[in-house]
Amino acid sequence: MTDAAGLAARVEAIQQRVVTAAQRVGRDPSEIALLPVSKTRPAEAVAAVVGGTGLARFAENRPQELAAKARELEERGIEWVLIGPLQTNKAGLAAQFACQFQALDDLRTAEALDRRLQALGRGMDVLIEVNTSGEAAKHGVATEDALELARGLKQCSSLRPRGLMTVALNSPDETAVRACFRRLREVQAQLRDASGELWDELSMGMSGDFEWAVEEGSTIVRIGTAIFGSR
Ligand SMILES: *Cc1c(COP(=O)(O)O)cnc(C)c1O
Repeated sequence: MTDAAGLAARVEAIQQRVVTAAQRVGRDPSEIALLPVSKTRPAEAVAAVVGGTGLARFAENRPQELAAKARELEERGIEWVLIGPLQTNKAGLAAQFACQFQALDDLRTAEALDRRLQALGRGMDVLIEVNTSGEAAKHGVATEDALELARGLKQCSSLRPRGLMTVALNSPDETAVRACFRRLREVQAQLRDASGELWDELSMGMSGDFEWAVEEGSTIVRIGTAIFGSR
């Protein structure tokens, strides 16, 4: 769907739901950013959202696709966020085209990214991805390993640790999904205590569960299908 008015209406409806969810728990809605996920969508759909809403930060889960859209939409001033796994051999693409990497889950990748960024004279915001559901197929560090990775990041001077990201259990079971979001907050509290850094971004909540995530403290909701339609 590249109908600009339709896309803008969907974005607005989601923003309204974010506001309502935040207010239910007494949060300030301006603490929560809507991050559209444009993976698998053509560049024209991204351009239509930019034109219709003014949103200027988009997420992709594959470095090659991120780089291709960044090149195609170069004039638009879009900031690109990588939310999927990064192989060390793609670190250069991420360093060149992404402003933030939310799926950091191992030190080798962090070091490769850091080297590429240093060569470019750039820095990058990073979020550690935590596997809060315990599912074997999910990316992210185990909750008990987040601290060790956080410590390792101190050697990577071009990476700026900003927070944590998770993909919750894909389930209609509200209690189980909320438990994932709460685990991410617990990890955040641990890292804060241990590192003295804020780790203040909590990237949690997708099309099917973002209202629960906002109620549980999310600061970034990553929304694909609820904006662009089913993939
Ligand atoms: C695809 C994707 C999303 C968006 O999912 P929707 O259910 O389409 O909103 C969010 N986060 C990650 C890591 C993704 O890969």
